Amino acid sequence: MSDSILGIIGSGQLGSMLCQAAKKLNVRTVVISDDEQGPAQTYADQFIFAKYDNQQKIKQFIDKADVVTFEFENIPISILKQIEKEKKVLPKPEINRIIQNRKLEKSFINELGIETTKWAFIEKAEDVTKNSNLLPGILKTNTLGYDGQGQFILKSLADVKKDWCFTADYILEKKVNLKKEISIIITRFIDGETFIYEPIENLHKDQILKHSKIPANIDEKTYKKAQKNAKLIADKLGYVGSMCVEYFIDQDDNLLVNEIAPRVHNSGHLTINAFNISQFENHIRAVCGLKFEKPKKNSNAEMINILGKEIEEYRSKTFKEDEFFFDYGKKIIKEKRKMGHLTILKK
Ligand code: ADP
Ligand code: MG
Repeated sequence: MSDSILGIIGSGQLGSMLCQAAKKLNVRTVVISDDEQGPAQTYADQFIFAKYDNQQKIKQFIDKADVVTFEFENIPISILKQIEKEKKVLPKPEINRIIQNRKLEKSFINELGIETTKWAFIEKAEDVTKNSNLLPGILKTNTLGYDGQGQFILKSLADVKKDWCFTADYILEKKVNLKKEISIIITRFIDGETFIYEPIENLHKDQILKHSKIPANIDEKTYKKAQKNAKLIADKLGYVGSMCVEYFIDQDDNLLVNEIAPRVHNSGHLTINAFNISQFENHIRAVCGLKFEKPKKNSNAEMINILGKEIEEYRSKTFKEDEFFFDYGKKIIKEKRKMGHLTILKK
């Protein structure tokens, strides 16, 4: 199906990297986005700028694409379902319905017998009082959070009266005393064939990913369990494409699922240089029904996220032969905004 046109919803850096991978495979792309300046338009064959409720533009997008995927999960589910009536959407919108909602996501994972952080669903201030055993904890909006947005740290019940109010549904999670964070990228094909990349070790600063590396410094048992649970999740969801499972490892070496990202993921950027088939290429192969090829690792690697103004320094830097700089080409520099990344291949 390499002569088909892939529709991609969203035009950020993940969209850019998906378009570049598609090019390599002779798959043409049409991107739709509500960001007029979205960087992926540089790499897409066609670009549609539209608010996601613009019916006429959505129709145009549906007509142009043979199969549709997305770079971010917080797309209104009604739109994904509307597209699905006419064209195949992969991963399935039903998966998004679960994962966009932290309560449904965590319930789904727990029902598979997989451990998450301890959590409770919160609608009003009294619900926090009832679940004070989860303090110190993190209150997260039940939907629409990313890069730490919509999160409030509650040290004690006194914080409930602070500067936020209950305008949305939340979940309250017990704060985990983290030893490490890791993630698994898994690509699952339509026939159920899967490739599970090795665990990636991640470091967050102010709830935003700053650094990733392979190999992760973890024991064999954790390595295997992280991969096994990711496969269980992908199989149960009937997932098609690349997805990410983010894990916490606590001080007692318990492996807890933090969250699932039903898409390619920032921690997997190092797969572009460290593997012959990246998470992006693998995603395109899976959703377009191309042949499964087992990716091969050619190097260890580290990735550094370049945030906000840091990009200016990188733009004038010279790099060594094992350093790969990616500038996302975002027009506006904002504090903590992901502007680019650097991958360094390691022995
Ligand atoms: P987002 O949807 O913004 O990625 P996450 O739930 O993944 O939100 O949180 C972002 C980061 O914040 C995590 O990777 C972790 O570093 C920190 N964090 C979130 N929840 C907890 C928790 N319950 N305990 C400890 N750290 C947490
Ligand atoms: Mg996260």
